[in-house]
Amino acid sequence: PDGLMRGKRGLIMGLANDKSIAWGIAQACHGAGAELAFTYQGEALGKRVRPLAADLGSDIVIPCDVSDEASIDAAFATLGESWDGLDFIVHAIGFSDKNELRGSYTEMTTAANFTQTMLISVYSFTAVTRRAAAMMKDGGSCLTLTYYGAEKVMPHYNVMGVAKAALEASVKYMAMDLGPRGIRVNALSAGPIKTLAASGIGDFRYIMKWNELNSPLRRNVTQTEVGKSALYLLSDLSSGVTGENLHVDAGYHVVGMKAEDAPDI
Ligand code: NAD
Repeated sequence: PDGLMRGKRGLIMGLANDKSIAWGIAQACHGAGAELAFTYQGEALGKRVRPLAADLGSDIVIPCDVSDEASIDAAFATLGESWDGLDFIVHAIGFSDKNELRGSYTEMTTAANFTQTMLISVYSFTAVTRRAAAMMKDGGSCLTLTYYGAEKVMPHYNVMGVAKAALEASVKYMAMDLGPRGIRVNALSAGPIKTLAASGIGDFRYIMKWNELNSPLRRNVTQTEVGKSALYLLSDLSSGVTGENLHVDAGYHVVGMKAEDAPDI
């Protein structure tokens, strides 16, 4: 897709390291000619994100803690000093207390973590999309990352599944609000990938193995594959697509049950 994104400027939020889904997406956008800016959460991650951004020719690397409205405002004010417009935004951010990502959702979930999970993993996409849209003078594309645990019960996903369901609903409402301005809002539902955030989920290795054994493609997906599909949603290739949830999960979401040799019963 040489030049597909030439002349387009995009903000990538949620890069932690080179295992991050945001990294696969950033690489794909850079490869297609986009100009990128990045936000990071906290100085410890800033040290990792700056060299990664530099690898992709970017020196716009801005702190932003999305649980703090003032921090989001400050980040967009800083971005506005470098860029007078914006074409796309990637929200690859999620958080929940890992002690509540195991065992029983009903028994484990506290009000404090429920609220925190919703704020960081759901509301922050609304908060950043509002500010990004204000910079999108010529239409644009907004993308968030979700997971199948929003649609069906997955082991240990718990409050995060409830949050992703709300995130997916917020995509539809924002698609309707922003559509008249030529701004598209979509979600990408990625299959399980080993990242920092995923390591907080109970039995994650087993979930990956299950996906590998039971998905139509009989394997897991990579950050690179998520990056390629994100490129479609962020570019003009998907100009007629909004409010969508694109599954990049080796087809796992269509499976009810895989054929096996039935035991004698
Ligand atoms: P990751 O750990 O690399 O990225 C998560 C990011 O969220 C980190 O950069 C972290 O700094 C950021 N973050 C958390 N709290 C924040 C806050 N208060 N302010 C700003 N940033 C904050 O892991 P990842 O797997 O690449 O996660 C990216 C997105 O993809 C998440 O929304 C996750 O739920 C989603 N996702 C992941 C998988 C998977 O299997 N890894 C599957 C489907 C969807």
